[in-house]
Amino acid sequence: MMNDAPSPHSLTIPDIGVDPGLLNGLARLAVHVGLNLQPGQDLVMTTPTCALPLARAITAEAYRAGAGLVTALISDRDMMLARFHHGHDASFDKAPEWLYKGMATAYENGAARLALVGEDPFLLAQEDASKVGRANRANAAAYRPALAPIAGFHINWSIIPCPTLEWAQRMFPDHPPEAAFNLLAQAIALTARLDHPDPVAAWTAHNETLARRCQMLNSARFDSLQFKGPGTDLRVGLAQGHFWQGGASVARNGVRCNPNIPTEEVFTTPHAARVDGYVRATKPLSHHGSLIDGIEMRFEAGRAVEARAARGGDVLRDMLGTDDGAARLGEVALVPHSSPVSQSGHLFFNTLFDENAASHIAMGQCYASCLEGGDGLSKEEISARGGNESLIHVDWMIGSGQMDVDGLKADGEAVALMRAGEWVTP
Ligand code: ZN
Ligand code: ZN
Repeated sequence: MMNDAPSPHSLTIPDIGVDPGLLNGLARLAVHVGLNLQPGQDLVMTTPTCALPLARAITAEAYRAGAGLVTALISDRDMMLARFHHGHDASFDKAPEWLYKGMATAYENGAARLALVGEDPFLLAQEDASKVGRANRANAAAYRPALAPIAGFHINWSIIPCPTLEWAQRMFPDHPPEAAFNLLAQAIALTARLDHPDPVAAWTAHNETLARRCQMLNSARFDSLQFKGPGTDLRVGLAQGHFWQGGASVARNGVRCNPNIPTEEVFTTPHAARVDGYVRATKPLSHHGSLIDGIEMRFEAGRAVEARAARGGDVLRDMLGTDDGAARLGEVALVPHSSPVSQSGHLFFNTLFDENAASHIAMGQCYASCLEGGDGLSKEEISARGGNESLIHVDWMIGSGQMDVDGLKADGEAVALMRAGEWVTP
């Protein structure tokens, strides 16, 4: 599918505007549900140039809601490609450390964080994989100070999608540009629950459903989860004192926010040394502009000891070699097959959507907030409980309409959680 898509250089970009109703709906969700931006609070927003119409609508909505200062950091497809086409070799080990330190300072001073997604998911697919890998590693290392307050949930933050032509044409390469764009816009409106008469109220109700599932899982105190489906027989041990989360939650700054819109998952921290068996991906993974398809992995004592992919195997191996924790799990998440994202039937080539279509696991860094008392735990304490540490956090999809999931208690008792991809207790 990807090879048939036009290359970024031959794209002719017709002038397709986003429906102002959709832009304003997304802007209201971003400010009032995703971020729950507080009066006087500053906002640091990252956006690709293709999502600028939404960035502008959000900026207006944020100031109407009493924002202190909104600062947008803008990335651009052509500038990114210019680096890979014309950059000197040494360029690919560089990253703007100064910028990420500045972002960290803004968060320390109370700013919220918003990321807009809408860029071409295969932007770097044609570029030299080793250069892409080096650039990703340099960026991940430099980004650390800006990621820590997000991973530790110190501040309210959110990721919001924007319908764009470059993204739509990758998803629907056989459609004329305008039709492709409309399909993506429609899918975003549905999965963001903008078809409800009061989308903010619809999100409150959805957050309550997710909270009930978390309560059930948190009181069951399972020792591990057992996944069984085609190509998968995987036991995922859960970290000591693990804690399930999903939907809205309260950041350490006291603000309740929805870090992802859309979101359908409940997730927790697995034990980095207690994952065994084999697992097959049920969807391709779009990773930093490259596509990895047909992933199969075998785990022993928490570590991926075998990994292959039908396509993008070099990118996968590069990713797993980032550091020791990159070959271990940092997240396990349950998503019903009937989720609106899954029901849309589309593959978005973007984790924000695709991870909400299926149960998934993530290689790399764990969320400390998915451990009881996690906010106050030191690195050593997190690791002693089984929490993984890495520069990366990469989700990939293992759930499907054929996946069964059991919760296993410490005494071996098995409780059916999901059958054929659906929750046993609704
Ligand atoms: Zn997840
Ligand atoms: Zn994740």
